[in-house]
Parts: sequence; structure tokens; C-alpha cells
Amino acid sequence: MNFEYTEEQKAVQAAARDFARNELFPGVIERDTHQKFPAEQIKKMGELGFMGMMVDPQYSGGGMDTISYVLAMEEISKIDASASVCMSVNNSLVCWGLEEFGTAEQKEKYLKPLAAGSIIGAFCLSEPEAGSDATSQRTTAEDKGDHYILNGTKNWITNGNSASVYIVIAQTHPEKRHKGINALIVEKGMPGFVVGKKEDKMGIRGSDTHSLMFTDVKIPKTSRIGEEGFGFTFAMTTLNGGRIGIAAQALGIACGAYELALKYARERKAFGKLLCEHQAIQFKLSEMATKIDAARLLVHKAAYLKDYNKDFVKAAAMAKLFASQIAQEVTTEAVQIHGGYGYVKEFHVERLMRDAKITQIYEGTTEIQKLVISRELIK
Ligand SMILES: Cc1cc2nc3c(=O)[nH]c(=O)nc-3n(C[C@H](O)[C@H](O)[C@H](O)COP(=O)(O)OP(=O)(O)OC[C@H]3O[C@@H](n4cnc5c(N)ncnc54)[C@H](O)[C@@H]3O)c2cc1C
Repeated sequence: MNFEYTEEQKAVQAAARDFARNELFPGVIERDTHQKFPAEQIKKMGELGFMGMMVDPQYSGGGMDTISYVLAMEEISKIDASASVCMSVNNSLVCWGLEEFGTAEQKEKYLKPLAAGSIIGAFCLSEPEAGSDATSQRTTAEDKGDHYILNGTKNWITNGNSASVYIVIAQTHPEKRHKGINALIVEKGMPGFVVGKKEDKMGIRGSDTHSLMFTDVKIPKTSRIGEEGFGFTFAMTTLNGGRIGIAAQALGIACGAYELALKYARERKAFGKLLCEHQAIQFKLSEMATKIDAARLLVHKAAYLKDYNKDFVKAAAMAKLFASQIAQEVTTEAVQIHGGYGYVKEFHVERLMRDAKITQIYEGTTEIQKLVISRELIK
């Protein structure tokens, strides 16, 4: 086994760290307060190659491995999880799905600008009545010969307003249940496509979460991803990989909070000595650091398995389950170590604590990860 990163992986990690500190950190509290999408910063992330990291260079991607991707996700998430969720959706759901299953024309038209970061993508599976149970799709794509007519509502869509390209999952043959579902590429501005209200969220407030409405939107069949009825398998396969990105996000949030708590404990005095000289605080830091290391091992194992084309479904679900759980624990302890200062925005840890919660909900809740893991264990 080799726990060392390659020179290239180290360079990617350092570039992401520098970018996060120099470009994301300065306005992160303001963006959180005012729910402002980090548009300029995401544009720069595209220019630096962070929006299509694993895509083949022939489609304007970085041609990097998944380890490099999770290292970058961790660094960006330490500072700004709203930027990292945009990055994660674009990389692991939209770009990956198109590269793996798209046609040559779809890759040329959509994947290239998405991987270059000149446009942003969104992945639209969830609906008001279909969250964890994604088979209950109410959005319909009626087969009209050479095109589909799309009707329905999606909600909770990350990059909902800032995206230009949307992969929309919809039901074509309800009688076939999940085997009647299709994945369609929808462009912003198509007649009948309306971006709905922005959600006022507890965390990742800079991220752009919207509902989307489709009324008789005409989608050519050339915009379907894969064969007729492949949509549900497409969504589930794509989400398996996406979970590695969200696990890395949770890890980054935890690590960001831990680093702030460690720094604070080295500076703040109570009862005549530094906080880090009190054994109770030392024990907290020890547990936080150990949990983070364990989560990182799970995240990197899942990324490694994916890079070597091995079955990574269980590993990805375990990584997301564990990393999102320790993100709750570590961020809460980071606030505790800061005392009252942890409870105010200026010290950043309260935001990280709020941001951590979403990692237990999206791309499969904690309970759904346990279902995925147990299914793999007993199959
Ligand atoms: C900020 C944000 C961004 C999001 N971004 C996107 C996006 O870009 N694209 C997208 O498609 N979706 C997105 N989502 C949606 C997200 O994936 C769903 O919210 C999530 O899958 C849960 O679905 P739900 O909210 O309908 O909860 P429900 O499915 O109703 O679940 C409610 C509770 O019941 C539990 N539960 C459900 N079924 C079971 C079961 N069988 N066994 C045990 N427990 C169960 C759940 O774990 C949960 O605790 C986003 C959500 C949020 C909040």
C-alpha cells in the first residue's frame, strides 16, 4: 500500500488550497449572510480546471484521477462548501454522466463547455413527492416520435438558476416503473422551462438551490442520454460516484472546523493557561483529528477503487455515511472549543456547523447510505 500522494496530486491539492484561501475566504461570510452565489469565484475555478477535473482532455477536462478530485474538494470545502457543492455537481454528476453515457454530439456540445467551466450544469432528480424514493417520478417525458414533451416540477436543484444545462430525469412509461424513466438534457431558456423560487437554507447558503418547472417543453430525442428507459440506472450510477465528492466535501468541512479550533486552542487562554494545555480540550482535539483521518481513509479508498475500475459502491456509501456523520460531530466540537466566539459568524465555525448538516441529506440521506451498504453486504 502507498499512502503518499504523487507530485501531481500534491500540486492539485496546493492549488486548491491557495485558491480557497486567497479567493474564496475573503467574501465567504458575506455570501453566506446574503445567500450570494459565488459566480466570479466559480468562473475562476473553471479557468483553473476545477470544474471538469476528471474529464478527458479531448473534451476540455483535466484528465485527472479521482484522488486529485477529492483532494481539491476537501481543500475548497474547508473554506466554502457552497462553492464546493457547485463544483461537485458539475464534476461528478453532470460531466461524469455525460462523458460516460453521452453521445459524441452531446459531448461536443455540452461536455466541452461544462468541463472547461465556461458554463455550469445541474442534475435534476428530486421532486416534491420523490426524494429518497426516486422511482416515484411524477415529471413526465411523453414520447412524441422524434421528441419528448416534458412536464413537471423538480425541487432542491443545486445550481438551479446559475446552470445553463440541466440533466432532467423523467418518466416516459409509468407502467414500466423505473425501467420507463429517461434522462434528458434540457437547456436554460427553452420555451416552457421556468426557474422557480430560491430556497432560504440553513447552510450552504451561497449555493443556488431552486425548484424548476417544465410545461410542455419540447426536447429532441437526440437529447436523451443512453437508450430509452436508461434514465433511472443513469441517475443511480451517477450518484454512486457523486457520493465520493460529497464525502470529500463533508471531510473538508470537518477539517476546516478542526483547523480553526486547533489554532484557537493555541491562542486563547483560560484559567491562566492556553486552552490547548487543558486536557479536556486536548482530548477533544485528539478525537476530532482521529475521526478526520478515518474519514479521509474511507474517502480515498472509494476514490482509489473508482480510479482502478473496481466496484466502489459500498466504499462510496460508507465514505459518505461516515464523513457526513463526523462532520456533524467535529464542527459541533469546534464551536464548543471556541466558546461564545464559536457562536458568532466572524469565527467561521458556526457556518461550517450549519454547512455540515446537508452532507447527511443530499445525494442519498444517511438512512439511504445504510440501505445501500446493507444491500451490498447481504447480496
Ligand atoms: C440544499 C439541497 C440541495 C439539493 N440538491 C439536489 C440536486 O442538485 N439535485 C437533486 O436531484 N436533488 C437535490 N437535493 C434533494 C436531496 O437529494 C433530497 O432532499 C434527499 O434525497 C432526500 O429526499 P427528501 O427531501 O424528499 O426526503 P424523504 O425522501 O422524504 O426522506 C425523509 C426522511 O425519511 C428517511 N427515509 C426515506 N426513505 C427511507 C427508507 N426507505 N428507510 C429509512 N429511512 C427512509 C430519509 O432518510 C429522511 O430522513 C438537494 C437537497 C437540498 C436540501
